[in-house]
Amino acid sequence: MLTHLLFTDLAGRLRKVTLRIDGDPLLLEGLETIVDGSSLLGFLRVEESDLLVKPVSSRPIVTGYVEGKHFISGLYKDKNTRYNKDPRFVAERLVEYLKEVELEARVGVELEFYIVESVESRLTPVSQSLNVKPIGEADYPQSSLWFVKTYDSPGEDKVGKLLGRVLAELERNELYFSKVHRENGPRGQVEVSTPAGTPIETADFVQHFKYMARVVGGREGFRPVFLAKPFPDDYGSGMHVHVSLWQGASNIFEEEGKLSDEALYFIGGLLEHARSLAAFTNPTVNSYRRLVEGFEAPVYVSWGLGNRTTAIRVPTQHQGRVEYRPPDPTSNPYLSISAIIMAGLDGIRKKISPSEPTSRNLFEEAAGWGTGGRVLPRSLEEALEELEADNDYLQPVFDRELLESYIELKKREAKAFRSYPTPVDYLFYLEY
Ligand code: GLU
Ligand code: MG
Ligand code: MG
Repeated sequence: MLTHLLFTDLAGRLRKVTLRIDGDPLLLEGLETIVDGSSLLGFLRVEESDLLVKPVSSRPIVTGYVEGKHFISGLYKDKNTRYNKDPRFVAERLVEYLKEVELEARVGVELEFYIVESVESRLTPVSQSLNVKPIGEADYPQSSLWFVKTYDSPGEDKVGKLLGRVLAELERNELYFSKVHRENGPRGQVEVSTPAGTPIETADFVQHFKYMARVVGGREGFRPVFLAKPFPDDYGSGMHVHVSLWQGASNIFEEEGKLSDEALYFIGGLLEHARSLAAFTNPTVNSYRRLVEGFEAPVYVSWGLGNRTTAIRVPTQHQGRVEYRPPDPTSNPYLSISAIIMAGLDGIRKKISPSEPTSRNLFEEAAGWGTGGRVLPRSLEEALEELEADNDYLQPVFDRELLESYIELKKREAKAFRSYPTPVDYLFYLEY
């Protein structure tokens, strides 16, 4: 029987190794295999590169599209020692850390992405072009409210149908979404929300979802695009993270239907660390193309009630949870969710009071009124510098070596882009 071990690398990409085994993998003691850690960016050097991969979840997923069972797996240095740079291990440590102070985090995400027909990427020595073909829909003029597709309910819609197939595959594995709808982007943007789960359950869901979308897409003729900003003049895709903290059956973010002091301090911590958090929540060069005015993506380090122009939103009807809006779907869900919670906990520990919430439309305010003009980083490099200077709040659950490797890996990524001309370089500068 085929058994697929799925694990996540430092950047957040899901990796897979397939074993052919005799018998039921669930009954098998010692199901594991060795992988080459030096081939996974940011992990091991080639001189000492063996890592063990072993299932950490006993709930395999199956799909009609791929034979065999899939197991979310962990990385190990040896049989009993987890590898310190395994991103999932960070989320596991976070859950343990919370348990020590008798807390539990409930986390839900809204995963936005585009479903397109194809992505054709051509690289030549002097220019490059990326051609993304939306499904059945012509190109639209500069983004305009007339073409926004939010909550669209067409009768025969290919985007919805394809998404339905992905969700059906997850349903048969009892991986349930809580809400799904068409998002603003007219070129085929959708949003899937998860129910509130533990940080591990929710991050696993994201990884399962992306995997399934790629597998189904490969067969059904579409590509899920999880870039934060696939089109210059269209809405970007975010991965908003909703958090509440619980002590037993009581939500400590809520007091008589209003935000508790803990919730306010948690927001204070997020505002304090938002700029360094960006290295995890917005971890690609492309991420920063999304953080611009006018597309419901945050620009200013700010918060508000029901305000979609701020970085933090407290849903007006649910004043017991906090929505952190900067993250995008290129982020490693284990690392970004864990970092967000650690930033909030730091706020609680230090009793950091947030500024007043803002009800202004920040996209119309030149200096980000009420935010002191503090903006999220403008680039990956800026975010990484922030993380280098501000990471104490992560220490209890983020291994030091992991942080160092992460920063180094991402710096190399940013540097590679810096010397790379894009099609827009030509558009702007060809006549000079
Ligand atoms: N697509 C927007 C973003 O980039 C969010 C839209 C919404 O509020 O759901 O974050
Ligand atoms: Mg949305
Ligand atoms: Mg949202």
